Amino acid sequence: MATGNDRLIQWLRDAHAMEKQAETMLEAQASRLEHYPELRQRIREHISETQNQARRLETCIERLGADTSTMKDAAGKMSAMMQGLGGALADDEIIKGSMAGYTFEHFEISAYTTLIAAAEEAGDQQTASVCREILREEKAMADWIEHHLPAVTKQYLEREELGGPAKR
Ligand code: MG
Ligand code: FE
Repeated sequence: MATGNDRLIQWLRDAHAMEKQAETMLEAQASRLEHYPELRQRIREHISETQNQARRLETCIERLGADTSTMKDAAGKMSAMMQGLGGALADDEIIKGSMAGYTFEHFEISAYTTLIAAAEEAGDQQTASVCREILREEKAMADWIEHHLPAVTKQYLEREELGGPAKR
């Protein structure tokens, strides 16, 4: 039977794989964006946060006495690449990408909400506090996308109307 600590370690590893996937996805988006500089800038900021989140998770996993050298993040990276490719093929790439980003941030929010409760249950206040910190960053990113999505959509539609480059 798995103990609370085993579950906590497993979920921290899952979160780490999620962050590696996020990094690949965000990098693909930022590198392709041309006509939406504000969005590109915010994504770049979130890439640094994301890299930092992965490092903070590693620290938590190591503090719990688990090994971080065997973490299998490759599958997540691969699926992120495929997702990136899917988005790139859409002729409304900026819109589909923003929607996917918004959805992904909420997936992260659910992961950290779960992790905070699991860390509290295990009596690991340090991990709980790291996860609260990361949760705030994910919520801030989700809020940013939510508040900018209408303007991005209108810009996209106006550019398309004028026959200019709109998709990214
Ligand atoms: Mg994240
Ligand atoms: Fe995020």
